[in-house]
Amino acid sequence: MKRRIKNVAVLGSGIMGSRIACHFANMGLKVLLLDRVNDAYSTNPPTPAIRNQLVKSGLDKTLETKPFPLFSKSLSALISIGNFEDDIHQLSDCDLILEAIVEDETIKKQLFDEIEKYRKPGTLICTNTSGIPIHQLLEGRSDDFKAHFCGTHFFNPPRYLTLLEIIPSTFTKPDVVDFLMRYGETHLSKDTILCKDTPGFIANRIGIFAMVSAFQLAEKMNLSVEQIDALTGVLIGRPKSATFRTADVIGLDTFVKVADGLSESLSDETADKNFNMPSYVETMLQNNWLGNKTKQGFYKKTIANDKAEILSLNLSNFEYDKDKYELEGFAELNKITDLKERLNALNKTPGEIGNCFRILHAQLFAYCTNCIPQIADDFYVVDDAMRTGFGWVIGPFEIWDNIGLAEGINLMDAEGRKPANWVSQMVKDGNNTFYKTENGIPSYYNIRSKTYKSIPGRENAIDLKILSETKTIWSNAAVTLIDLGDGILNLAFKTKMNSIDGEVLKGINTAIEIAERDYNVLIIANDTPNFSVGANLKNILKMATEADWEGLNDFIKLFQDTAMNIRYSNIPVVVATQGLVLGGACELCLHADFVQMHAETYMGLVEVGVGLIPGGGGCKEFALLASDEYTNSSSDGSILKARFNTITKAATSTSAIEAVDMGFLETGKYAITLNRNDLIADAKIAAITLSLRYIAPQKRKDIKVLGNDTLAMLNAHTHNKKSAGFITPHQAVISQKLAYVLCGGDLSAPTFVNEQYLLDLEREAIVSLCADETTQEKIAAIVSK
Ligand code: NAD
Repeated sequence: MKRRIKNVAVLGSGIMGSRIACHFANMGLKVLLLDRVNDAYSTNPPTPAIRNQLVKSGLDKTLETKPFPLFSKSLSALISIGNFEDDIHQLSDCDLILEAIVEDETIKKQLFDEIEKYRKPGTLICTNTSGIPIHQLLEGRSDDFKAHFCGTHFFNPPRYLTLLEIIPSTFTKPDVVDFLMRYGETHLSKDTILCKDTPGFIANRIGIFAMVSAFQLAEKMNLSVEQIDALTGVLIGRPKSATFRTADVIGLDTFVKVADGLSESLSDETADKNFNMPSYVETMLQNNWLGNKTKQGFYKKTIANDKAEILSLNLSNFEYDKDKYELEGFAELNKITDLKERLNALNKTPGEIGNCFRILHAQLFAYCTNCIPQIADDFYVVDDAMRTGFGWVIGPFEIWDNIGLAEGINLMDAEGRKPANWVSQMVKDGNNTFYKTENGIPSYYNIRSKTYKSIPGRENAIDLKILSETKTIWSNAAVTLIDLGDGILNLAFKTKMNSIDGEVLKGINTAIEIAERDYNVLIIANDTPNFSVGANLKNILKMATEADWEGLNDFIKLFQDTAMNIRYSNIPVVVATQGLVLGGACELCLHADFVQMHAETYMGLVEVGVGLIPGGGGCKEFALLASDEYTNSSSDGSILKARFNTITKAATSTSAIEAVDMGFLETGKYAITLNRNDLIADAKIAAITLSLRYIAPQKRKDIKVLGNDTLAMLNAHTHNKKSAGFITPHQAVISQKLAYVLCGGDLSAPTFVNEQYLLDLEREAIVSLCADETTQEKIAAIVSK
């Protein structure tokens, strides 16, 4: 029988349980979240609300956190709460039960005793343990429990970190493993990795080691919390939260338990078992300074003079202070934008910064090589796990390739360390990299065959960077046009943050021309963390400060014409989005035939934030979409006002679902991809489908604009907000310009207009706003960042 997951139970509403519950809700599943009964109640008999206080506060706390765990606030309605005594019988209705309680083998086993009483045979039962061996948790369990039990290790925060480690025991049925691997990828937007049941599995085995090494280095080299975080964060391609801030997020108690667990359970064959905590950790545990969950850890938020301030812990005197001391040379290195270049420069830098890099990486490289094949048969799995589970931009073996294989071995020699034998053999055989790209196919060194093999699972993925090497059919300084096969072209931007300048716009028009002539569809997709931050403000500012109004007018006209070309060309244009899709980028989506969005799409018309209004057809499109929503003249004004407010707030969606709620996408003209790796492939499928039945739309002449009465209503609204001090006089000017465009200008009555009429109003308004000094100051502030 086909397994379907509809109802999920998550047991434990702590940091992980409550966030995993939210992530299941993101996928549209009904979730039952249970925790212990609150035993500190005063009423007798206690009400259910009081008995559920623990689980309620766990979930509430999570719903107050940033980054927000849900795609949309309304999804919290899918989560119901209860406790392990009154509600555990509801487990019999669940298709998947996930345990996420405290990292304690005895306590987890006691809970499993209870679960056995209510769980239906065949129900999947998973544990989120970070490191307790899966087989150890199964002592005393029934055969059915054992056959359906599997480790499913989510990473924190589960919505944003895509790794899901699947750890079967020897008892787990193969079809359960297959199901979880597939379900994780397709239904939970995860990158699933099949792990062996070894201590810490894969990502924690490496990531916790890397963190403990940095903890130890802080003590050994007398470096501060902020210095270590600066050295082990964005600088070396790891997340901003680096080492100590990550520990605060995990919770120091959980972190230490996992590290201790690793230290105790690692067998002697593993060369490095050094998970010893420096002495300051013991003091912090005694003080219950566990991080975010106890409101202080390595960092603490305070309020001084009505302003929130983040203080860091002084590891010598245990006082919190403002430590902004930067290591010498840090600022210079930080200016190198290309990560690979930066890592090479860092490795060559003398002094403290360089030493830290070299020591940490000598340890990391040696340790990682000795973990293979115990934790994974192939090293590329380690790189995958560190990227998706710990948010590293590149994994340890990729870093090593970047600084050079021989150089990595030199670093180890200097530290008295050695790589595992398989690396020595690999070098002896004349190989000098872990990875290679051959004929556009990424391959890795396979230890067993001692040859390079293609990386499994990547054969069908669309990798624009690799394809661009052999399939580029046209390019200019700002874009690359790639043949994806099957009659489909892909245009990718290559400007800074994929900002849209004149070259990008010309590129889009050329791509449409080529596609109309020789292909079936054009996709606009960028294989980068963010789709695009919108129009290049630097260019706009330059023209504005030089009073080049003609140039500005021409640029905006080109933007508008390009948007119209996207809409009315003879071929369908599909845009694939992820991350930031701001301003002009959002306007490209508004004009596309179809938008394939990754679930983590942050879309917004944010122009008001820099003193402008949307100028690439965004205002026109909002007036058009409002017009299509009008049903009777009495409610038309409020429909337009809602769209007016979306632009004046300059708000950005926090997910693809919210982008739909905010009115940026039309029903039937978008789809959401859960797994980022599938985005371009999904866009390609949508493109093929669309091309089969494509008829270019007709230009619109029937847009109802509401004229002076509605304009007066919107201006009165703006005036009230200004008088109440909610908006500045400058914001009021922008709002009035926007209202004027959306209402169709100075019209005595509602009128039907065409698109060009609205585009001309929009262009006139934006050019006039560019002349405003405050607008120029605002743009300059953004550009100088
Ligand atoms: P947490 O301390 O935030 O929450 C622990 C939960 O366990 C709470 O809901 C608490 O009420 C419950 N609990 C405590 N004692 C209990 C008992 N005697 N009986 C039943 N329930 C009890 O912990 P967490 O960080 O959410 O970790 C939960 C699990 O997830 C652990 O196995 C941990 O190793 C794992 N994990 C944690 C992280 C992380 O970043 N924190 C990441 C991945 C996996």
